[in-house]
Amino acid sequence: MRVNMHTHSVFCDGKDTPREMIETAIEKGFDILGFSGHGHSPCDDVSMSLEATAEYIRTIRSLQKEYQDRITIYLGIEQDKTCRIPSKDPYDFVIGSVHFLSKEDKHVPIDMSKDVFISLLEEFYDGDFTAMAEAYYSEITQMKDFEEVDIIGHLDLLMKYNEDESFIRFDDPSYVKLAEQCIYTIGTSKLFEVNTGAIARGMRKSPYPAKNLLEILHSAGAGIMLNSDCHDRRYLDCAFPESLALIRSCGFDCLYILKDGEFIPVDIDQFH
Ligand SMILES: [Zn+2]
Ligand SMILES: [Zn+2]
Repeated sequence: MRVNMHTHSVFCDGKDTPREMIETAIEKGFDILGFSGHGHSPCDDVSMSLEATAEYIRTIRSLQKEYQDRITIYLGIEQDKTCRIPSKDPYDFVIGSVHFLSKEDKHVPIDMSKDVFISLLEEFYDGDFTAMAEAYYSEITQMKDFEEVDIIGHLDLLMKYNEDESFIRFDDPSYVKLAEQCIYTIGTSKLFEVNTGAIARGMRKSPYPAKNLLEILHSAGAGIMLNSDCHDRRYLDCAFPESLALIRSCGFDCLYILKDGEFIPVDIDQFH
């Protein structure tokens, strides 16, 4: 089985049309492809306008019907926490993500570039990474009560530029404690994704979240799925085999898939 529920297309900041993505997914042997365009947010330049969102919905629903005998297509959205949607309708699933940290009316992206990340850290948190992590994980934790959200996107996105641990050690106790509190508070109320997007972009060698957080997710009994956060169809299955090995090594024996409107666990041995 091959599944990806985190896919961007030309409707937001992806390179390919939904149809191109679907054709590649079929070529690569995918069973399920979920689209998750960046939902409209006034502070997010790459998010879809309301008009583009309407066209996105029509397009994906039409492709879903057209390809129904060859691949299961889902209509989803990746909604940034800065702009909550009133309900899950009309989507099949919703990924809730925190891409910005805010002070008063100013919203600064966490993952746009390393330079912007450094200025965010300096300007908002006086260079104190733990203070930034506290704010970030507090934002993530608040999505526990967002009924429309099914999946927490890229749990430790704030580690995007930290492959060399130049900002903080991955096992720094005060940092890990903040992430752990977040994971245990959300617990089984949402699913979490293992996200290989930063590997495709050459920023990281391992997926979000880091292995130690994945182990905590397992201890907390959380459900997970494997996604590529794909912006370029060549990377639709980016690092899937090694990520499955990593997931297994943390003790997980199943991944969640969406079927008939419900997320259900499937034996990890079914995936490749
Ligand atoms: Zn995202
Ligand atoms: Zn994304």
